[in-house]
Amino acid sequence: MSERPRRILHCDMDGFFAAIHRRDEPHLREVPLVVGGDPDGRGVVSTANYAARRYGRHSAMPAATAKRLCPEAVFLRPDLARYRAGSRRLMALLSEFSDRIEPVSLDEAYLELTDRLSSYPSTTAAAEAIRARVRETLGLTVSVGVANSRLVAKLASDWDKPDGLTVVPPKQVPGFLAPLPVRKLPGVGPTTERTLTEASLATVADLRAQGRERLVHLLGRIGGTLHNLAWGRDDCPVGVERARKSLGVETTFAVDQVNLAEMDRILTSLAERVHRGLLTRGLTGRTVTVKARYPDFRTVTRSQTLAEPPAEAEALATVAQQLLRRTEAGQTPVRLLGLTVANLTEAEPAEQLPLFR
Ligand SMILES: [Mg+2]
Repeated sequence: MSERPRRILHCDMDGFFAAIHRRDEPHLREVPLVVGGDPDGRGVVSTANYAARRYGRHSAMPAATAKRLCPEAVFLRPDLARYRAGSRRLMALLSEFSDRIEPVSLDEAYLELTDRLSSYPSTTAAAEAIRARVRETLGLTVSVGVANSRLVAKLASDWDKPDGLTVVPPKQVPGFLAPLPVRKLPGVGPTTERTLTEASLATVADLRAQGRERLVHLLGRIGGTLHNLAWGRDDCPVGVERARKSLGVETTFAVDQVNLAEMDRILTSLAERVHRGLLTRGLTGRTVTVKARYPDFRTVTRSQTLAEPPAEAEALATVAQQLLRRTEAGQTPVRLLGLTVANLTEAEPAEQLPLFR
């Protein structure tokens, strides 16, 4: 029995936070707009609208840098409750197209249409209908990728942003993936990318030219996964989101760290990543945990539960740096540092927003 190809959509709103402000506050429509931390402090950019991106502004850039590059930009602090309200309406709308929907953040979701009978003649037609409904109902634009796997659907939604629809038929998957830089594949972080670069493997096509054994030899277990992904083999199902209990990141150093000031700087950048991850999911959390691993692989964690969730990445970094001082860091070399926030709660809207403004 031949299996029907899977039909997966990845829907990703365009500059979601900035787009909501622009929609609701007409005076912001034509100006470069940056949503994020304090431009006079150490905050980072959450989203910039596409006017601001033309000036080179982008997510995760320090807000102070963004301000220097584009002093005329309007800087707004995130209004999480409002984004959550918008996200609820978005997910409700998407649920009308399939009950197999997996939200990955406030503004992004996978939909599986494989076994869904629908009134649309094709997956492409369903994707077009979603885009039209989002525009009419929410007054916002969404980019959609259509493919036979999550991997390719996600890469496709990113292909023609903003306001794009990219359909990759199964036969075109290998050609679509071939020229992409390796970092576009899930699981390829800065460390793996460096290893691949040193082995002169820059694109997905380069990965494919290697045998699976070579990639496993180079990268360990993830090498096998990357080999599959490079060929577009990804049968990961679209599932219903599990309630997230914590969000954390960690980094292993090429050289063991002994310098506390340097470790503080690393914790600051981990704090920015965690803070940003929470923000895109509309979450805040009160329990902060720092993990340190020593060269002999002993691993310790130090935690603190705060009365209020840290509002800024900077505040989170400060707590993390205090926790670091309760480890042996500074006396014993450290090979890995991690930062996790748990005790998560959803930021609730203060009031229900009207449908049209
Ligand atoms: Mg988005």
